[in-house]
Amino acid sequence: MNTIDWKNLPFNYFKTDYNVRCYWRNGKWGELEVSSSEYIVMHMAATTLHYGQEAFEGLKAYTGKDGKVRLFRVEENARRMNNTARYILMPEVPEELFIEAIIKAVKLNAKYIPPYGTGATLYIRPLLIGVGPEVGVRPSKEYLFMVFVTPVGAYFKEGFKPVNMMICREYDRAAPLGTGHVKVGGNYAASLLSMELAHEKGFAAAIYLDPKEKKYIDESGPANFFGIKNNTYITPASRSILPSITNKSLMELAQDLGMKVERRPVPLEELEEFEETGACGTAAVISPIKSIVDPDNQKIYVYCKDDKPGPVCTRLYEQLTAIQFGEIPDRFGWTRVIDL
Ligand SMILES: *Cc1c(COP(=O)(O)O)cnc(C)c1O
Repeated sequence: MNTIDWKNLPFNYFKTDYNVRCYWRNGKWGELEVSSSEYIVMHMAATTLHYGQEAFEGLKAYTGKDGKVRLFRVEENARRMNNTARYILMPEVPEELFIEAIIKAVKLNAKYIPPYGTGATLYIRPLLIGVGPEVGVRPSKEYLFMVFVTPVGAYFKEGFKPVNMMICREYDRAAPLGTGHVKVGGNYAASLLSMELAHEKGFAAAIYLDPKEKKYIDESGPANFFGIKNNTYITPASRSILPSITNKSLMELAQDLGMKVERRPVPLEELEEFEETGACGTAAVISPIKSIVDPDNQKIYVYCKDDKPGPVCTRLYEQLTAIQFGEIPDRFGWTRVIDL
């Protein structure tokens, strides 16, 4: 295990030893099982494969400065997965089962938890899928809830760095009253093409507009959007945005740091007025945005001079990561220490 180069780990799948699984059959959850297989055996007519009955979550375990391993707001992930489950007619996973499965998966793979100071973390991926066979469109009668973990490298290898993004008008990731607000794989399938086109043009991500009117900012693929102006943290409210736990935490932090917080529709024209903008999510915490290009209007909004993140993004990023890595007291009660 001394052979893992923690500092150069990519954000990618890296094999660990065990995962945990639990099946829902005959209307109830069974026992948590430990598996050493990376594969799932399921019926070829499973509803997850044909009709997208799939919910997932993403969170991390962090080794702190004190050597303790912490989870960040895991109850929020439990609630969000159940919100997704209800929306696509899957059984809810009891919060205690959800958390127990995560702690078990982390403990069983303790040797893969990256050490403090490397920037690397243990990424945790819970998923809930319909595994029973159905040919007609209807919910499955059987489900699998599972959790696997994989060590991932620091998102910003050369430090916290601003990126360029583009407004995407040609495609939407979600419909106005569709599944944008829940964490289903289908939203990602819908975003792959526009993400690839953005990458081909040299942008780190595409920013989607509200799918109904195309007047407001929604979010950027896998991360929520926020803008800063006049000591105010402003983030879009929209039916088609996935409620990010990182964004929720940044709103609370901003308020705690004496800023105002607004969650409301953000018209495209407001991009002109922001002093800083960023995208936020578990993977990067904050991706400060250097510029946003709107190709159809031949407009470019620039936020960073000389490639440096703005002071507010920097402060929020430092505070949140300091709590996650146990470098400062957790004044919000967001973290949970795992006894290994
Ligand atoms: C998971 C996700 C996010 C980020 O949520 P966090 O809880 O902060 O990791 C943002 N947008 C979408 C579409 C997502 O699926």
